[in-house]
Amino acid sequence: MNREVTHRLKACEVLFNEGDPPTTAFLLESGRLRITARSDDGERVLAEIGPGELVGEMAVIDQSPRTATATAISDCLLLAIDAAQISERLSNTDPIVRALLEGQLRRYRATLAAIHGTQGESENPYQNEPLGIHKIRLESALRESLRNDGLDLRLQPLMDVLTGGIAGFEALVRWHHPERGPISPTEFITLAEETSLIEPVGDYVLRRTLDALVDLRQQGLGTLPFIAINVSARQMSRANLVEQLLEDLSERDLPSSAIKLEITESQQLDYAQVAEVMKLAQGNGIRVALDDFGTGYSNLQHMHLLPFNTLKVDQSLARGMVDNARTRVLLGSIAEMASNLDADVVVEGIETEAELDVLRQLGVHYAQGWLVGRPEPVSEAIRHYCESLGRTARQS
Ligand code: C2E
Ligand code: CA
Ligand code: CA
Repeated sequence: MNREVTHRLKACEVLFNEGDPPTTAFLLESGRLRITARSDDGERVLAEIGPGELVGEMAVIDQSPRTATATAISDCLLLAIDAAQISERLSNTDPIVRALLEGQLRRYRATLAAIHGTQGESENPYQNEPLGIHKIRLESALRESLRNDGLDLRLQPLMDVLTGGIAGFEALVRWHHPERGPISPTEFITLAEETSLIEPVGDYVLRRTLDALVDLRQQGLGTLPFIAINVSARQMSRANLVEQLLEDLSERDLPSSAIKLEITESQQLDYAQVAEVMKLAQGNGIRVALDDFGTGYSNLQHMHLLPFNTLKVDQSLARGMVDNARTRVLLGSIAEMASNLDADVVVEGIETEAELDVLRQLGVHYAQGWLVGRPEPVSEAIRHYCESLGRTARQS
């Protein structure tokens, strides 16, 4: 096979033959090609292709021998596309798109096999179920659960380190898969974020959060604790996110200070737009936290654009703060920086008294973690909150 990038063929010359190994695909720049396949009753023309079309990509994608012959009808100029170039693209592509493509190819090959009069390759060439199929299944199940009340909400308390009281909660979604049981939000939120499914999930979380706030208010305990909700990049790009939220709050006569938005920095964020959303939220009394600070994409370049009220320090940074002096210096500096920016700090993943002591010493405002409380069903969380204030919860 010619390894040149451009490839010229004279009329009637063969580009590749049925049965050849799949080394290269081609982009036809000029001329015409005829694609044929042998069958019981001679040769069948499958297609004629012209400039701008790809040829030979199928065998390259699924790494099987050519199932057809390509012959120049007129003089042709082709651009060779190396197999590695294609497989690299494919492995980087969305697994669902890949699964769809693989399915199409299998079906096409079965049709060709019928033309050849040979047995179709009925076996799945992929030993295990492709990741794309797994995701499609999970996505359909999540869609179904959204219709059938299969999601649930947990509230995890945040402690005011100075007073030891509960200042608010974080809303954390749960999904009980009909067969697999509980699935971690780290798995299905990522999936939902890849599609528009994050929107109904987000709407569900918001609805349940507002209901929980109404329940909390009915306890008649004075200041309403806040509930923080996680807002993903796709939700941030919704045009009326804040307006809708303000409307929902006002319909229930809830103060905007009762909701906090948690935003995680990510590659997907349009920072200029996020800054606008944050300003609008804050201008209307809704506070905004930068979540998972200290991991992934958190980046000083974005921080001076984003007017946050709270920095939520990821638990990975909090780990080791009891034994590691450098971690304490880092945390102390984060608390000081936040304070200079009129923001407060939450440290997540607090599991021991010793860790809480460090937060007290460093002047960190809020602690969240198993020591303070696990994520609990809403009614439990409200009951514990009332008990912490020396009251018995009223049933709603
Ligand atoms: P996150 O926002 O950083 O949430 C904190 C995670 O840490 C939660 O995991 C919580 O259960 C866990 N955690 C809290 N305290 C401790 C502790 O002391 N020790 C340990 N080891 N873990 C602790 P969860 O509930 O599995 O949530 C994982 C992630 O899923 C969340 O991380 C958030 O990014 C996402 N998520 C959860 N609910 C929602 C939601 O309603 N909407 C969106 N967009 N994302 C959500
Ligand atoms: Ca969060
Ligand atoms: Ca976090």
